[in-house]
Amino acid sequence: MLKINEIFYSIQGESSYAGWPTVFVRTSGCNLRCTYCDTTYAYYDGEKLSLDAICNEIKSYSAKYVCLTGGEPLLQPQSLQLMTSLCDLGYFVSLETSGSISCKTVDKRVKKIIDIKTPGSGELDSFLMENLLYATALDEFKFVICSEDDFFWAEDFVKRNLSKNTNLILYSPSFKAVEENWLAKKILLEKSPARLQLQLHKYIWPPESRGV
Ligand code: SF4
Repeated sequence: MLKINEIFYSIQGESSYAGWPTVFVRTSGCNLRCTYCDTTYAYYDGEKLSLDAICNEIKSYSAKYVCLTGGEPLLQPQSLQLMTSLCDLGYFVSLETSGSISCKTVDKRVKKIIDIKTPGSGELDSFLMENLLYATALDEFKFVICSEDDFFWAEDFVKRNLSKNTNLILYSPSFKAVEENWLAKKILLEKSPARLQLQLHKYIWPPESRGV
């Protein structure tokens, strides 16, 4: 059983999968409390569902992509089995995680989107450095940038820890904290290796709506 906050069908707004129709499975519970969190409703609320029930609901949509998100999905060990089952069923599966819990046993077919917390998140140092060892070529590293200090912190982290990796590096402006065009210019001026990521879903849906 997994405690699930919601399952919904929408457009993926982030990562290299942005734009794909996707079924989102949002697990309940998070071990962090980021300053900009927009899913505080997932901290506690949820319903316990069997893996079969979750898979059946996913199958009721016609999507090929499934994104396991939270909260923090890795807080519930059964998330691992769910991801493997979905890969076996032929889905492209992505996992959104803060990297604060070991990713060692995540199925290698899963694309991990690892959100490394910047100082502005209020959760600096939550990232488990050992997770760098478990990254596969599929995985992507994301940094939510809340300020100029965050930008340079992320640049330094990437330079020190990810310069030899071929993984996609994503910088996402913290919604309403920094301007998108400011971050775009910063990436160009500083010759950053990062790709600008805008949260597509925030532009195509009104704030209360996350899809159909
Ligand atoms: S890790 Fe994600 S869900 Fe948890 S507090 Fe931070 S933004 Fe919210």
